[in-house]
Amino acid sequence: MPPRRSTASKAAPKRERTTSSPLSDVPVTKPKPSSKAKGKANGSETKVAVKPKTALADDVKAGDEKLTEEPPKKKAKVAKGKQWPPAELSPDLHPPRNGYPIFELPESSSAKNGALTPTTKENRPMLLGAHVSIAGGPATALLRAGMAGANGLAMFTKSQRQWKSNPFEHEAIERFRDLMKSKEEGGLGYPPESILVHGSYLINLGNPDENKWNTSYDCFKDDIYRCHQLGIKLYNWHPGSTVGACTKEESFALIAKAINRVHKEVPEVVTVIENMANAGSNIVGTAFPELTAIIAQVEDKSRVRVCLDTCHLFAAGYDLRTPEAYAETMKKFDEEVGNGYLGGIHLNDSKADLAGNKDLHENIGLGKIGLTGFRCLMRDPVMSGIPIVLETPAPEKALEVGDLAIWMREIKLLYEIQGINDQDWETKKDEIEERWRKERDSINPPKEKGPKGKAKPAPKGKKKGKKEDSEEEDD
Ligand SMILES: [Zn+2]
Ligand SMILES: [Zn+2]
Repeated sequence: MPPRRSTASKAAPKRERTTSSPLSDVPVTKPKPSSKAKGKANGSETKVAVKPKTALADDVKAGDEKLTEEPPKKKAKVAKGKQWPPAELSPDLHPPRNGYPIFELPESSSAKNGALTPTTKENRPMLLGAHVSIAGGPATALLRAGMAGANGLAMFTKSQRQWKSNPFEHEAIERFRDLMKSKEEGGLGYPPESILVHGSYLINLGNPDENKWNTSYDCFKDDIYRCHQLGIKLYNWHPGSTVGACTKEESFALIAKAINRVHKEVPEVVTVIENMANAGSNIVGTAFPELTAIIAQVEDKSRVRVCLDTCHLFAAGYDLRTPEAYAETMKKFDEEVGNGYLGGIHLNDSKADLAGNKDLHENIGLGKIGLTGFRCLMRDPVMSGIPIVLETPAPEKALEVGDLAIWMREIKLLYEIQGINDQDWETKKDEIEERWRKERDSINPPKEKGPKGKAKPAPKGKKKGKKEDSEEEDD
């Protein structure tokens, strides 16, 4: 049984936030006087930039016919052992980054539950980004995020579909840590709280088979150790499945056991449990009370959070399509889990219907959730200061620079709709959706039942084998 609200509230961790990280090229509302000279928020810029409505990204204006930048066309892969940073991902090519809300965020309405305790009333950046590839080494993920204009990102720390990978080389760790640093310090400005590592898909800590559990635990711990080596703070993974071999309650206990153990064996990293899509199956973590039941058994609550995947929410029956539905779903989350536990978002539209129990990601606003739901999320103060990660369909595999184009466009679109007021939204949303759909189709045409290629959608009910990202079943 999930703890009562008051229990959850008492135990809920405070969100740790930084307000002066130079995440963005747009200054924070009130740059905080920093004790360290290097901490100055945005280089020489100190001017207050947050105004209602007008301060959209330098290069995206409300009502623009289209977003101005051309997607990167290069398809070159990052060659190993060559020049660093790779020319095709060079910081000189990175577009400007936005991120600070372009309107005054309202004060949190959920503070009444005691779950959310803002450390400051200053605006916090939206850490919006995408799940990017680490091909060429983990530091390339930061360069790819930069290419997409992202303020946050997700990545794997090793091949996500094999149990063992070589440990990181010292140079790979150094490169990563150097690029995480602020721009003033010569990095790209991706502080630890802006990166949400995604765990291996193989891990199932809900399986009562002892050998299998141990194998999963080793992989889980290795993932988290890699985060620690890189200086990353947030690690998210799929809680697991009973595989039909035990009750959900037994799985909750097994998962909590793994969390408690890893907290003792690897320092600092926060374990972030992802909500899952397939309600009614053996999968654990599809409904809020299941997440709560796991958290209730975690000893160090300061090191456990939840990552909400919007597509998984929708698939599990949590509606997000209208302002009312969005508010209702997030109210439930606050009451049943607690906003203080929100550690990240996977931002995906859904190809499948509400409560369809299908994990089929779609580009933002072009699926069954629709733009209105994502605008609500982008304007929700609860969403600031945590990684918000696109896992939406992109052309080919995410190994090539050209794939970042779609996420760059999606990020811009999200900031654009964030800045539109309620009244204008009703009149503008249809034209924005139409424009975006054309744009998306030009970069990543919807996959038809084509005669050739892997793009052919899998027949219904087909057992999934090696699944393609964003096809059939997503993550
Ligand atoms: Zn998914
Ligand atoms: Zn996932």
